[in-house]
Amino acid sequence: MESEMAAAEESRVVVDAEVAARLVKGLREAFVARKTRSYEWRVSQLKSILKMAEDHEQDIADALRSDLAKPELESVVYEVAMLKSACTMAIKKLKHWMTPEKVKTSITAFPSSAEIVPEPLGVVLVISPWNYPFLLSLEPVVGAIAAGNAVVLKPSEISPATSSLLGKLITEYMDNSLVKVVEGAVAETSALLEQKWDKICYTGNGRVGRIVMAAAAKHLTPVLLELGGKSPVVVDSGINLQVATRRIIAGKWACNNGQTCVAADYIITTKDYAPKLLDSLKHELEKFYGKNPLESKDLSRIVNSNHFARLTKLLDEDKVSGKIVHGGERDKSNLRIAPTILLDVPRDSVIMNEEIFGPLLPIVTVEKVEDSVDIINSGTKPLAAYLFTNNKKLKEHFVMAVSAGGMIVNDTIIHLAVDTLPFGGVQESGMGSYHGKFSFDAFSHKKAVLYRGFAGDVPVRYPPYTKGKLRL
Ligand code: NAD
Repeated sequence: MESEMAAAEESRVVVDAEVAARLVKGLREAFVARKTRSYEWRVSQLKSILKMAEDHEQDIADALRSDLAKPELESVVYEVAMLKSACTMAIKKLKHWMTPEKVKTSITAFPSSAEIVPEPLGVVLVISPWNYPFLLSLEPVVGAIAAGNAVVLKPSEISPATSSLLGKLITEYMDNSLVKVVEGAVAETSALLEQKWDKICYTGNGRVGRIVMAAAAKHLTPVLLELGGKSPVVVDSGINLQVATRRIIAGKWACNNGQTCVAADYIITTKDYAPKLLDSLKHELEKFYGKNPLESKDLSRIVNSNHFARLTKLLDEDKVSGKIVHGGERDKSNLRIAPTILLDVPRDSVIMNEEIFGPLLPIVTVEKVEDSVDIINSGTKPLAAYLFTNNKKLKEHFVMAVSAGGMIVNDTIIHLAVDTLPFGGVQESGMGSYHGKFSFDAFSHKKAVLYRGFAGDVPVRYPPYTKGKLRL
């Protein structure tokens, strides 16, 4: 594995603006030749992705371990299996998705028939992040291919083992005249962004999201921006606390140790209920990760020293450090931070104003659980919002009053595995959505086609516009 990665590194082409322009030109020529239009090409490429994931499950898990010390179960379940499921669904439904949709027409166009014809956009760019570097690279590619586009994938340089593996596998398994990988960092991404694309899908942070959108605006290129934010978890009393606690832990620490876009960023609960919730979290965390979680093989490490420094700085802020009520241990040499809970940190602290994206979880307490809605709505719109309750009224109020990319009542994160739901953010947490059929739609143009014959030609629309015609 290491020697293969070294070989891939040696053979890496440096992509500057000139190379990127040539790359896009070649892909555009191949796209114009209409190969991607056929059902057969699309299915063959989707099957290749599926086979690639099946043949290399262990290599993928090894790369993810190298990049993030990701536990194998998380790699298999949250990256490989989810990709396979997206591929299988696309293969199964593709014929149906590609079929033009007949629609009714209006009296103005009588007699006529109409349909909506999905067509590929052209040559698209997918820029992916480091936290789920396999799934979040290939799941948009599945949508782009299903919709019949040529694709360039730019994986994150922050997860180099997965980036290199993707470069190697895509070269080996895919039709390289139409599907390519460009490895690299900011320089390479910037060179790619200078080109004219037919859609750019970017998953990552809002700062780079703005750079991507500005670059896309120069060519009027549409964007799909999958960003992040501070996803709240509201915990009401009168619930099954053990189940709720386990589900909060599963969506926070048992997913990349908090380095997940839809991980719980902070909890809101009442002052009265906070001690019970805290006890339960401590108890379950110890059951899952033992007394010394820094040594647990079931927790990912922090991805690199920059993110380690960013997270420890959040914890070490003067007004925050005294608020740690659980965890707080760290090991710089192994980039490990234990699951850490903070209680009632000041609302003007940095940790309460930036996406945490790591294993730290502040609990905010309120007098009444209903107050949580104002707290959430006072910030930017989150990618996800979670509520644990048995109260029907609260549930209804929360769903109607809180705006978020997605929402779950009585669980966390698993909405992203429900492929009948669109996955995406709103305002600062993103633009557009994908997953399941929404992925096909995200990379298609819905062409409106109206069919008419020559019979039934109504002269009222033609000049001269006589008074008699006006009265009709
Ligand atoms: P990252 O740093 O790996 O960046 C993503 C991509 O942007 C990389 O390919 C990188 O090369 C490129 N990039 C970085 N700086 C650039 C620049 N100046 N110009 C051009 N390109 C540049 O990933 P990240 O942003 O650290 O990922 C974490 C963020 O992503 C979090 O905010 C998280 O919430 C969000 N995220 C969102 C989703 C989602 O589905 N909505 C999923 C995962 C992560």
